Amino acid sequence: MKQTITELQPRLTEHFMKLIEAGKLSHAYLFAGPAGTGKSELALFVAQIVFCTDKQAGMPCGRCSECRRIADHGFPDVVEVAPDGASIKVDQIRFLKAEFSKSGVEGTKKIFIISDAEKMTASAANSLLKFLEEPSGDVCAFLLTENANLILPTIISRCQEFELQALGFDELSEKLQQAGISKDKASLLLGLTDSLEIAIELSKDDGFAAMTADVWEWFKLIMTNDLRAFVNVTTHLKQYFSDRSRQDMLLDLIVLLVRDVMLLKFEEHGRTSFAMHHDELRAFSEKISTQRACQATELVLDSRKLQAINVSFQNILETLTLKLVSCYHE
Ligand SMILES: [Zn+2]
Repeated sequence: MKQTITELQPRLTEHFMKLIEAGKLSHAYLFAGPAGTGKSELALFVAQIVFCTDKQAGMPCGRCSECRRIADHGFPDVVEVAPDGASIKVDQIRFLKAEFSKSGVEGTKKIFIISDAEKMTASAANSLLKFLEEPSGDVCAFLLTENANLILPTIISRCQEFELQALGFDELSEKLQQAGISKDKASLLLGLTDSLEIAIELSKDDGFAAMTADVWEWFKLIMTNDLRAFVNVTTHLKQYFSDRSRQDMLLDLIVLLVRDVMLLKFEEHGRTSFAMHHDELRAFSEKISTQRACQATELVLDSRKLQAINVSFQNILETLTLKLVSCYHE
């Protein structure tokens, strides 16, 4: 299930349909919002509204040659720029401006989309600024960013700014359940990501399901003050150490567990990520002090710092195991 932009940003897609219908599209827009909120999809959708040859009530058809080429990033009058390496360089903006100065290949209008706009070098930003101050021809620029604070205020002042909000937990959970994922599993997935696509991908990943089960078995030993948890690191968890992204996932799951325990100290009916084990986690949280529950969370966050400086991951987890057992039980 891939979400369409009209589902993800119903208000904004509607807004742009009306705006273009009324002939009021501006010269420059800034779309700011976290990953997964549909910034580039929205910009491409606006381009489709502009160029679609078979619109129905303001809505692009998605099937005509224009719509399809825009979706495939192959339409000559929609030019996209993304960081080349770590930054967007001044030459890339010069190229854009050269494109701006030509008239459209297929029509008179041109649309430009700059992804990760906060990554423009200072000279690229200044070059773009000059253009935004004196736009030439019938052009519309979309600047996309996860962090508008890193963009020159002078550039922002030339753009109409829209903040794209992620869907809330309940809406996301609802959508995951519509995709056939259980409510409890949805809670776990949404503890790890607020991207619907990533959540659905993870839900189909057998490795992820196995890791979740193994982490839970390990944590159960810790909750029962059973030092076999230490051995369990080698016998069960070690298989996930080889790859950095799996290590991250493992630590993320452990963070969720200790957070659940802490959360339940404050809110007996709180929304746990390991919702499928809610009752066991709650019974455990009742036995320990709030202070210990908080300390345990700190211990796990410290492990992440050690991982960042490349301490052996096996050492990190073995040490964490011993520290958690003593934190919870001594
Ligand atoms: Zn179309």
